[in-house]
Amino acid sequence: MPSIESLISAESIQARVAELGRQISADYAGEEITVVPVLKGSFVFAADLVRHIDVPLAIDFLGLRSYEGTESSGVVQITSDLTKSIEGKHIVVVEDIVDTGLTMQYLMQNLSTRKPASVKLCSLLHKPSRTTVEIDIDYLGFTIEDVFVIGYGLDYDQHYRNLPFLGVLTPGVS
Ligand code: 5GP
Repeated sequence: MPSIESLISAESIQARVAELGRQISADYAGEEITVVPVLKGSFVFAADLVRHIDVPLAIDFLGLRSYEGTESSGVVQITSDLTKSIEGKHIVVVEDIVDTGLTMQYLMQNLSTRKPASVKLCSLLHKPSRTTVEIDIDYLGFTIEDVFVIGYGLDYDQHYRNLPFLGVLTPGVS
């Protein structure tokens, strides 16, 4: 049986997500935004986050694949694109975790070419010791060490996304 060590509790996550929602609401007061959750990992975070944002918003999902198991495949693939044009819109990308930063560097550049009014990045987690590229995270939940995390939407081979907290699988456990 896999052993999971808790890294960030459900209560801490909820408190931080509420703060992020308030910050986004304040920054976009008087504007309308389009929230773009990056699937699959950010679906739980995005669902909680939008309920703490009180400016008018639309949601359009974007599917990306950059990892197989715990290893980066090194290639970013759009598996499911936005359904609408983002031209002239204020975009808030919602991501689960910035690790090397390659995925978000690719996506932010890709979205910029579609002529949005602005694009900002909101990531639940960041592993700065692993990040190899310049990437601005406008709204960040937590900075973490170089560990492989699961739960709250994040998976290991598609499992554990339903955990309400963020945890770490103990070494050698599959
Ligand atoms: P990057 O391109 O920044 O190296 O990788 C970003 C993507 O890798 C994330 O969206 C996520 O899917 C995956 N990833 C990176 N670190 C972790 C981790 O610790 N746990 C899980 N479950 N996925 C991770």
